[in-house]
Amino acid sequence: MTKKSINNIGVFTSGGDAPGMNAALRAVVRTAIYHGKGVFTIKCGYEGMIDGEIERVNSRAVSNIIQTGGTVIKTARSERFRTDHGRKQAFENLKKFGIDGLIAIGGDGTFRGCIDFYKEYKFQMIGVPATIDNDLYGTDFTIGYDTAVNTSLDAIDKIRDTAQSHKRFFIIEVMGRDAGFICLETGIAGGAESILIPEIKTDVNKLCSQIKSLFDRGKTSNIVVVAEGDDAGGAYEIGAKIKQKTGIDYRVVILGHIQRGGSPSAKDRLLASKLGYWSVKHLIDGKANVMVGEINSKIVLTDMEDSVGKKKPIDMDALEMAMVLAS
Ligand code: ATP
Repeated sequence: MTKKSINNIGVFTSGGDAPGMNAALRAVVRTAIYHGKGVFTIKCGYEGMIDGEIERVNSRAVSNIIQTGGTVIKTARSERFRTDHGRKQAFENLKKFGIDGLIAIGGDGTFRGCIDFYKEYKFQMIGVPATIDNDLYGTDFTIGYDTAVNTSLDAIDKIRDTAQSHKRFFIIEVMGRDAGFICLETGIAGGAESILIPEIKTDVNKLCSQIKSLFDRGKTSNIVVVAEGDDAGGAYEIGAKIKQKTGIDYRVVILGHIQRGGSPSAKDRLLASKLGYWSVKHLIDGKANVMVGEINSKIVLTDMEDSVGKKKPIDMDALEMAMVLAS
């Protein structure tokens, strides 16, 4: 079978914004132009595809964005793209602009959209993993995760100063509805006394004894980091349970959206540049319906179905290590 050649590449960012999306966009635009392809940015993810918010760009359009957070071409969650009618409209618009290949920069929901689109229209698409959650199978890290961990860590360090000064017990909630990657790494690096992640059932009684025993053994502060999706509840719920069982007073900090923003770290800029560059190379080479990732410093391709369908394992040994180091 002869390889279909790509003439015009569309690129969009979708789902939750993540630091490094702009660096990935820059890499996609410049690599495509270097290879003589037309490049079109699509505003607001799938919404812009449906509404025809599509614009041809040159290399200068992505000047001075590698260091910026958020996404200059905006992002959105699109209910309409979940419908047959919405996807048909999107397809018609892409055809109108002569776009025959797409690079999707986003998380698992974005890639589920790609899978549907590929099934229906055989549209050549490659996914670039960008989400602070790091919950995609087929890459060691997703774009935005490193920055989010560093942002959360900075907040924990500040809270530790107050916890230490007042001998106080803090419960800090970080993002992670289904995955505890941010929580685990932030917790370890911030020296948290306990780390609660959705992947492991939380034993509140055990947690209470641990907190009490650490205070009894002379700890002057105590920080629990919990992922928002933990089975025992969010920070307020867990705090109330602990107070009821131990009488220990607590303070809650929910880090929330500050974890998403900010200038991307060097690691995220590098990852975004590499994955953006390779996504275009592979698209031109005829690959489709795959996500480009990096595993052990090597660029790898993973079927979109696997990238969203398979569970990326969390390092359980690291969790045990964190407990030992906090004792
Ligand atoms: P993050 O992990 O940061 O939340 P994400 O890409 O997972 O990013 P979502 O909001 O889950 O963000 O998905 C982005 C968009 O992808 C959705 O708003 C929707 O338009 C589209 N999408 C998600 N799932 C599907 C699906 N099954 N079929 C078609 N489109 C989908």
